Amino acid sequence: MTRNKLRLAIVGAGPAGIYAADILLKAERNFDVSIDLFDHLPAPYGLVRYGVAPDHPRIKGIITALREVLDRGDIRIFGNVRFGEDISLDDLKRHYNAVIFATGAVHDSSLNIPGVGLEGSYGAADFVSWFDGHPDVPRTWPLEAESIAVIGNGNVALDVARMLAKHVEDLMVTEIPDNVAAGLGESPVTDVHVFGRRGPTSVKFTPLELRELGELRDVDMILADEDFDYDDAARAAVAGNKQVFVIDKVLQQWRQREVGEASRRLHLHFFAKPLEIVDDGSGRVSAIRYERTRSDGAGGVVGTGEIREIPIQAVYRAVGYFGSPLPGVPFDERLGVIPNHEGQVLLRDPDTGESRQMYGVYATGWIKRGPVGLIGHTKSDAMETIKHVINDLGNWWTPEWPSEESVLEMLDARGIAYTDLDGWHRLDQHERSLGEAEGRVRIKVVPRDDMVQVSRGEA
Ligand SMILES: Cc1cc2nc3c(=O)[nH]c(=O)nc-3n(C[C@H](O)[C@H](O)[C@H](O)COP(=O)(O)OP(=O)(O)OC[C@H]3O[C@@H](n4cnc5c(N)ncnc54)[C@H](O)[C@@H]3O)c2cc1C
Repeated sequence: MTRNKLRLAIVGAGPAGIYAADILLKAERNFDVSIDLFDHLPAPYGLVRYGVAPDHPRIKGIITALREVLDRGDIRIFGNVRFGEDISLDDLKRHYNAVIFATGAVHDSSLNIPGVGLEGSYGAADFVSWFDGHPDVPRTWPLEAESIAVIGNGNVALDVARMLAKHVEDLMVTEIPDNVAAGLGESPVTDVHVFGRRGPTSVKFTPLELRELGELRDVDMILADEDFDYDDAARAAVAGNKQVFVIDKVLQQWRQREVGEASRRLHLHFFAKPLEIVDDGSGRVSAIRYERTRSDGAGGVVGTGEIREIPIQAVYRAVGYFGSPLPGVPFDERLGVIPNHEGQVLLRDPDTGESRQMYGVYATGWIKRGPVGLIGHTKSDAMETIKHVINDLGNWWTPEWPSEESVLEMLDARGIAYTDLDGWHRLDQHERSLGEAEGRVRIKVVPRDDMVQVSRGEA
């Protein structure tokens, strides 16, 4: 089959979707390309806008590079359009030659210990959405606890612990929305306890993010000597791995610090496996019960049988993100991803159990390979997927209505208040001017309706 144009839909305008569009447009190919990028949020950039912490301006700055891609003007964006509600796979088949799903992962992985459903037990992803001003979460967050547990030893746990322990005055230079500043300002927190089941040399923190924790004003770092009695495996990890070496150095420096003056404390508990979130008898969190573990000498840990308990009034579970299924698209319930081979989506035959390629359907980013890795990794991901999109030319769909106008007609006929690139510029400018008035870079607009109205010039 010969073709001279690829009409491509990309669902998800996070970094993975934008990089995929950019890479395809720049790739060597013998056909023209026209790309429409859909996102259910009225603003682009996915977790860079709604996941990366507000006090990480350097990472938020990646938005500038993503924005440059969109500003070239060769990609159309349709925000406020949800795949699975506003548009379906059949709609895409009628209008495009192929689709790439880049829908990421927005929900918390589950943690199966008793008490996760108690009042005061929260998923980190929900808290992150709140402090980053996601339009679809409530405006208020219950910050009433003095002692808080954070379960997890990855960067999201660090973000959550830092945002809980940091004094709100030190966040006022950032883009945090007004409701978040007001909520954090009321927090009576004094102690944040971070729990990881492994030792200090097995954490998933990255050194830069860990170091930042120790720079918080008026916050003491509390570590226990018993966690630093390294065995041979731990010593070998410090000697043989640069990242572990730096992490160990940072932790050792904190151990030397004088503590006792600060009004808030951040406790790092290693070799501590949470067993249960304890009920106060009325359905509220009152403590966290955990088992002390020890190294098994081969990089893992085993339980020691020693059970400990720390009184707390809130728990944040930062044990990873998980992808969501999309109607009509295969989904791996165990891994939370779209099953694929290098980005080519695979369909499993329920009778034979064999998988075959679902022509015209591709995946990239976190929904392709799971919620691990940094923004930069979504670029290499996109390259792999795009290579197949190009090579699969003979297997693309043949749409009934391939024109660019027909998509606009469909969205208009359905009364969908979509936002476009000009709309994003309007919202961006509006948020910047809100910030400027208070000497800040930006103040985010949070309610979805307000975002849409500003974008569409209806405010
Ligand atoms: C709390 C947190 C902090 C992080 N901090 C850093 C950091 O400091 N540095 C770093 O490099 N990386 C960081 N990351 C990782 C980084 O955010 C991810 O690597 C990256 O965002 C993954 O990109 P993605 O495009 O696959 O997914 P996403 O960024 O999640 O984008 C997916 C997009 O798809 C859209 N979408 C989903 N479902 C639908 C649907 N049904 N219809 C239409 N659109 C849909 C979403 O609205 C979203 O815009 C962090 C992640 C988290 C969770």
